[in-house]
Amino acid sequence: MSLLQDNFGRKFPYIRMSITDVCNFKCGYCLPNGYQVDKSDNRKFLHLDEIKRLAMVFSKLGVSKIRITGGEPTVRKDFFEIIKILKEAGIKKVSITTNGYHLDKKAQMLVDSGLNGINISIDSLDRNTFKSITGHDRLPEILKGIQILQDLNFENIKVNAVLLNNINASEKDFNSWREFIKINKVDFRFIELMQTGDNLDYFRKYHISSKIFKEYLDKNNWIYQTLGKDAGPSLNYINPDYKGKFGIIAPYSKDFCKSCNRLRITSKGDLRLCLFGNTGISIRHLLQKDDQIEELQDLILGQMKFKKESHYLELGETGLTKNLSTTGG
Ligand code: SAM
Ligand code: SF4
Repeated sequence: MSLLQDNFGRKFPYIRMSITDVCNFKCGYCLPNGYQVDKSDNRKFLHLDEIKRLAMVFSKLGVSKIRITGGEPTVRKDFFEIIKILKEAGIKKVSITTNGYHLDKKAQMLVDSGLNGINISIDSLDRNTFKSITGHDRLPEILKGIQILQDLNFENIKVNAVLLNNINASEKDFNSWREFIKINKVDFRFIELMQTGDNLDYFRKYHISSKIFKEYLDKNNWIYQTLGKDAGPSLNYINPDYKGKFGIIAPYSKDFCKSCNRLRITSKGDLRLCLFGNTGISIRHLLQKDDQIEELQDLILGQMKFKKESHYLELGETGLTKNLSTTGG
């Protein structure tokens, strides 16, 4: 039972933890020029001891799930060690969000690590389109990795794509995903493109409402699946003839923030109450010694009253978020 609760009655059993800003891809909406070192900020990314203390505090506060993200989390040399540490600290479900780089080679190790879920970002099943969005011709190795994970009976596989007008949002694109989840036990979700501090031109050019995908699902008789109150903001659709499911993550929709169930930790140890907005404080100074844990717990609990009702993204407010590589999307 999560002790983390805000003034609007929302509970937070779930943390997204970015462990690095570094990424080896160059997605047009996120890091179009690849990762660049921020010379104004010489803080290092959270190290293992700090991550361990964070996990211990959150576990005490009733957090049951941590998603490791980035940047690209798998570029860290101690990536598998981090999964282990989170589990040892009592976090029941540890999952990751990854761009799938070398997934074919890492699949077995991921399964062996005790990981509970994986979200893989694939913006298109067309090899050339994938390459033009990410800057890398790596679709085949990612798809092979997904196959290996399924062969190893890994259960919780999700694939996310950012919906991009005139790039991957046609009926043909939707049909290709339909064929994919017919035979793969994978939940596929389109995420609506979000405006960040860095991507305004890209956003104006490629943003399209996820209604277009919803209409496609309605037209093809997909059934909306009602989930529990704490299920998070994805709208899910099922069809008995398919192994996988479809989903929509629509951050601009009216009630999106009502189902918010997560807090965020940036790669350099800031607590963020929302992906967007200006509410974030550094908690790193309280991650240095084991005897600071109670003080840290109180600080985090005290922050809950500052969580706002909405991200106000529809007003174009992107707050501190220059791109999603620091907060992990
Ligand atoms: N590198 C990993 C990956 O790509 O899966 C993890 C970090 S990435 C920031 C997490 C997710 O955020 C990805 O699914 C990515 O497509 C999504 N994302 C990044 N920028 C976005 C934006 N401006 N709008 C919507 N989704 C975005
Ligand atoms: Fe890297 Fe993920 Fe951003 Fe793409 S979305 S540039 S893979 S951090």
